[in-house]
Amino acid sequence: MIRRGFFVLLSVLLAAQCAEAQAVAAQARWFRGNTHTHTINSDGDSAPDAVVRWYKEHRYHFLVISDHDAVTPVDGLNAAFAAPGKFLVLSGEEVTDRFEGAPVHLIGVGTRETVPAQGGASIPEILTRDARAIRAAGGVPHVNHPNFGWALTAEQIAASEARHFEIWNGHPLVNNRGGGGSPSAEEIWDKILSTGRVIFGVATDDAHTFRQEYSPALAMAGRGWILVRATELTAAAILAAFDRGDFYCSTGVEFRGYEANEREIRIELPKGTSNTAPRFRTFFIGKDGAVLKQDDSFTPAYQFQGNELYVRARVESSNGAMAWTQPVFPKK
Ligand SMILES: [Zn+2]
Ligand SMILES: [Zn+2]
Repeated sequence: MIRRGFFVLLSVLLAAQCAEAQAVAAQARWFRGNTHTHTINSDGDSAPDAVVRWYKEHRYHFLVISDHDAVTPVDGLNAAFAAPGKFLVLSGEEVTDRFEGAPVHLIGVGTRETVPAQGGASIPEILTRDARAIRAAGGVPHVNHPNFGWALTAEQIAASEARHFEIWNGHPLVNNRGGGGSPSAEEIWDKILSTGRVIFGVATDDAHTFRQEYSPALAMAGRGWILVRATELTAAAILAAFDRGDFYCSTGVEFRGYEANEREIRIELPKGTSNTAPRFRTFFIGKDGAVLKQDDSFTPAYQFQGNELYVRARVESSNGAMAWTQPVFPKK
């Protein structure tokens, strides 16, 4: 009896250890990455290795090189720079299409071969054809800078198969904030979401310039990025999490904690102790861009009331940096 009890105890302990190991293995982490970067292989000013070095030295976990209409090879870059769980370069491309002079650009995150601009008879058709071609080449598409050249409207994006688009892009000529009667990229997001369509927001650098003195008038690195939740830093895991919308956007605000489910959204913001530490305003936003709640705490939260079409959060730091969560569509 004693022996059998010992073995029962042992097997319970082993099972517990196993479950613990599985839980640790399956534990997700947040990986910081930029999905929109240029090198001298298109209109950037620096060689791929210099660009990759910049992002690695600035504590990014991954970088997508997205030259115009060309896939820059990344195997050699990964041989030189990749570190398990710490840094990875992903291949990609900016498919550079146009319609009657208007720029229609999409990033293919993770594409391994060049995708030619597919063209089409309308902007929604071009977006859909390019997005399909990117998926056929193994990538996940995201539409770029809707207000660059005032090219893309909410209605056109909503009428395409696009499931991701840039709500913030660091290039100085892309008109993120709208104006003159044209909506901001974030207002375009709410217009699309308010039709009931799930579309994920992306923040990127669109970096071109690494060799000049810092200037707000230049397309420099380190301005906008995403934090992707994945169990490991591999191209497959990052692409899958990005595809299903398991990420948030930042221009400088990063969360200590973030959980969203069908009952609530909870964020934990960094609470500094010095008198220089930033403070925050968090806006929970719903249909038509309406502010459903403002929460000024370090642990902003929103409980669903049951009548929301969707809820997303925008966090504003007292220093001007921002973060945006993806929309949550609660099940009715
Ligand atoms: Zn572009
Ligand atoms: Zn670009």
